[in-house]
Parts: sequence; C-alpha cells; structure tokens
Amino acid sequence: MFIDLSDVLLEHHKPIDIVVSTDITEVSMAQGVMPVIEKSPVHIVVKHVKQKELSIEGECKIVLKIPCDRCLEPVAIDFDIKIANHIDLDEDSQTEELDEKSYIDGYKLDVDKLLYNEMLIGWPMKILCSDDCRGICNTCGQNLNKGTCNCEDTSLDPRMSVIRDVFKNFKEV
Ligand SMILES: [Zn+2]
Ligand SMILES: [Zn+2]
Repeated sequence: MFIDLSDVLLEHHKPIDIVVSTDITEVSMAQGVMPVIEKSPVHIVVKHVKQKELSIEGECKIVLKIPCDRCLEPVAIDFDIKIANHIDLDEDSQTEELDEKSYIDGYKLDVDKLLYNEMLIGWPMKILCSDDCRGICNTCGQNLNKGTCNCEDTSLDPRMSVIRDVFKNFKEV
C-alpha cells in the first residue's frame, strides 16, 4: 500500500489523514517465516513541517505467530505499532538514516515497509509460550511441555555427580 506524499507538499495546510489496510501477510526472518494472524486497519497522518520535511504518524496493531525460543510452538505476539517519524525528502539518502528512509520511494510512502521496519525495531528479545516453558529434549526432540521422554541426561543427574565426587576423593587419597 502506497500513499502519495505530493499532495501534502503542494497543499501544506492539508494534512493527509487516512485509514488504509496493509498487505503484510508474513514476516520472514532468519528463523523462518512468521505469518500474520490478525491486523487492524492502519491510521496514517502525514503533516507538512517545513520545505520538504514531513512528520509521519501512524497506528496499527498486528499479531504474528512466532515460534517459542525454547519449544518452537507458535505463540501469538501482539505488535502495537505507534509511529512518530520525521523525514526530510530533500536529505541525501546516501548520508544517514538510510534504513529509516527505505519506506520512502520518491514521493510515495510505502506503508507496508514502514510497518515492517517498526516490527523489526520492536521485535521482542525473547519469545516464550510461557515463563516456565520446559523446551524440547535435545536428544529426541520431544516437547517437554506435552510429555516426558526416556532420554536420561546422565551428565546432569545429581546422583551421578555425587558418585563421581566420591570416586574422585578415593583416588586422591
Ligand atoms: Zn515454549
Ligand atoms: Zn528425549
């Protein structure tokens, strides 16, 4: 979805104030593709600041399905996107904020790219299905929230380490 910014540049006192829909259906990251399971309409307000400077405000809610860091089960994560950006269309895009302006194409505002950027900026550090997610077994891949498996990790078994310590003490004597 593109918004033509030239209107607000021609008529400075007439801000663009519209509600559009986004075409984003998924976000692809190194970990995989996260589908959009819910999205609200996008409210965008573009105001003229001075010369070719514009302020862009936006609001939208997007819900993505992202795998849990521990057990890989998909979790619904809400992104409450609130945009308050300031751009200068005259600014040489080679200098700074190259990424920030990637959602501007000539005099067009790429709403999807703008939202995409915001989601990446606000990406949660940790995705967990619950705080006490038990993850998956490293040996057999069993989801340990759903059941146990028969793999015994002896290196972490406290009883084994006691025996090991006793054995070590014997040798040292
Ligand atoms: Zn989990
Ligand atoms: Zn296992």
